[in-house]
Amino acid sequence: MKSTINQAPGGKASSAPLMGSAAEPTLFELSVPGRSAYQLRTTGVPEMPLESLIPASLLRESDVDIAEVSERDLVAHFTRLSHRQFSVDLGFYPLGSCTMKYNPKFCDEVANMVGLVDVHPATPASLSQGWIELLVELEADLCEITGMAAVTLQPAAGAAGELTGLLLMSAYHRARGDRRKRILIPDSAHGTNPASVTLGGYEVTTIPSDERGLVDVAAVKAALDTDVAGIMLTNPNTVGLFEEEIAEIAAAVHDVGGLLYYDGANLNAILGVVRPGDMGFDIMHMNVHKTFATPHGGGGPGAGPVAVSQRLVEYLPGPKPVRLEDGNYGYETPPHSIGRMHSWHGNAMVLARTLAYIKVHGGDGLRRVAERAVLNANWLRKRIEGDYPPAYDRVCMHEVVVSAGAIKRETGAKALDIAKALLEEGFHAPTVYFPLIVDEALMFEPTETESLQTLEALAQSLEKIAAKAISDPGSLALAPQSTPVRRVDEARAARQLIPTFDAR
Ligand SMILES: *Cc1c(COP(=O)(O)O)cnc(C)c1O
Repeated sequence: MKSTINQAPGGKASSAPLMGSAAEPTLFELSVPGRSAYQLRTTGVPEMPLESLIPASLLRESDVDIAEVSERDLVAHFTRLSHRQFSVDLGFYPLGSCTMKYNPKFCDEVANMVGLVDVHPATPASLSQGWIELLVELEADLCEITGMAAVTLQPAAGAAGELTGLLLMSAYHRARGDRRKRILIPDSAHGTNPASVTLGGYEVTTIPSDERGLVDVAAVKAALDTDVAGIMLTNPNTVGLFEEEIAEIAAAVHDVGGLLYYDGANLNAILGVVRPGDMGFDIMHMNVHKTFATPHGGGGPGAGPVAVSQRLVEYLPGPKPVRLEDGNYGYETPPHSIGRMHSWHGNAMVLARTLAYIKVHGGDGLRRVAERAVLNANWLRKRIEGDYPPAYDRVCMHEVVVSAGAIKRETGAKALDIAKALLEEGFHAPTVYFPLIVDEALMFEPTETESLQTLEALAQSLEKIAAKAISDPGSLALAPQSTPVRRVDEARAARQLIPTFDAR
């Protein structure tokens, strides 16, 4: 029995099993009659028949089947299961577009402070001054980082931020008696963009990317008219490239009275270097769970603050945390607010982590985050280009999209097989088949938190897999073999959520 190994720096396998392959027995299999996870001290309280305490009609007719295990066995069982997770704390997680970087524990510590966790969101402002001050300060910092005029912290994730942005767009146009129908989106966009547009009541007009992997400016101009409410752009875009004609696009969209939406999921690439507000954007969301610490990936809470330019401030969701004229903190609702986007003030603990991350880095520290994230991606791009040619052969930003198209044509091994084989090597898979415009796409986002040794270890594993694709393509199609769940039928797994583990 082989266990999946963690790739320690330098490509040396550590002996710590990451996702042990031994089938974990169920609690019932561990059960021994009479064993129990608790003992009561001798109390002197006399034992009484149940019937004397509970009406007979409510009593079970037969004993309920409960596993009988000791506390020690119980803890060991769940601890073993918890070690089968792959996480940012355990290994390299180069899942492009998701910014799965290591999150400093300092941020968790701040978010766990008693003064923060013990406050109910309905607490009156007079009794939660510290919390409101924290939110106000975070809004100010996010304005400075993005170059925008104001922020709402309410949206609970990036996609919720997108919907908020589209509702803001629609409020803005409506206030001008303008009923616009369409939103332009590049064909490389994240799937949430068109979904949010539809949910926001607009129609999508898709703009093709050109051979450089950038938005085709001529196509944008051709699609523009007074029916266009705005354009949603991601910059750097989802192929990891910086949009070069952003000022020209901004001017053209504003010329027809449209607004510019910035999908800020890739903010990690430009922190402290350029600001969306300075590029001419009117609305943007941030995925603070990606850029500003908060472990995500298991469906846990995130936050998607939305920043806007001056002309949209009056429409922001409310109530907004504010510093009042008398110096105290309270709430105010903007005059033409679109209303609430969250029942309270947003996912507050994620926001506390965000502020901690910003404060502990400072402006120059945030800039270093972006510079190192970009350096790491470019180092990896050059290191693996022999086997995995980049989709667009130029300097990339914080992530690199390579194509396994040539490998597939020569050996039959697909991007999916390569991603699955990487699990066997102790790495999380990269993003695959996204963006949709790249053939057999593999999208790596190393982030700034990985060392040169870890990047080298990943590169060596990728080389090994490319060699295996030639020597033994069949084995790649069966990977992974040593993880708790082996190759699943993708379509079935998405529809049938109850896993059927094979007992080995
Ligand atoms: C992650 C991501 C989103 C969606 O954000 P969530 O916080 O997952 O809702 C949108 N656009 C891009 C480019 C992303 O990477």
